[in-house]
This record gives sequence, structure tokens and C-alpha cells, in this order.
Amino acid sequence: MDCLFCQIAAKEAKAKIIYEDAETMAFQNIRPLAPIHLLIIPKKHISSISQVLPEERDLIGQVILTAQKAAQLVGLEERGYKLAVNVGRGGGQEIFHLHFHLLGGWSNLKERDVPGMP
Ligand SMILES: [Zn+2]
Repeated sequence: MDCLFCQIAAKEAKAKIIYEDAETMAFQNIRPLAPIHLLIIPKKHISSISQVLPEERDLIGQVILTAQKAAQLVGLEERGYKLAVNVGRGGGQEIFHLHFHLLGGWSNLKERDVPGMP
């Protein structure tokens, strides 16, 4: 298994886990682009949001619920945050295991414009 996020999901690679359930996980990005930068993943390997199958729709819904929970746990629920997905190399995706970026915590709202993020 050479997918970093599969290794994190299996606890074979270290990550600072914020929240997890049976199917999903939220952990800190080791190269943060914002004061708070989490990655939210399905534990199942799906290479990109462009490859999601109809039968995986509930799983993707669960990833979004995990993003909500993670935002609450890091204190961003009231303040707001970005939830962003890069799709393919042309969209800036670097790790080909589907992940949502959860970014926030800026003190100056002009800093919200993160390079490489919508
Ligand atoms: Zn994977």
C-alpha cells in the first residue's frame, strides 16, 4: 500500500487525528496553508472526487458530516471556514486519495485567499 492517506487511515503512518469514525477521518495537514488546515478523507481509497461512484454517495455525505464535526472540534463552526477539493493535477491535487481541505482561523480575512485554493 503506497498511498499515504490509506496508511494514515490504517494508522500505519502518523497523523494528528482530530476526529474519526468507522468510514472517515479528519487530521491535520503537515504542510498547513492556513492557521488551521485539516484534511478530511474517506478511509476507503477513492483516487479523486472525479472518480466517485453512485454507490459511494453515502460515503461522501459522511465525509461532509465529518468535516462539520471537525470544524466544531477546532472551534471554526461559528467563525466559518473554507471546505475545498482539488480535482486532478490541473486542479492542484497532489495526493490521489480523495480529500477535502478544511481551512480557517485567519485573523486578517484578506489572508483567506490561499494560493492554490478557491
Ligand atoms: Zn488511499
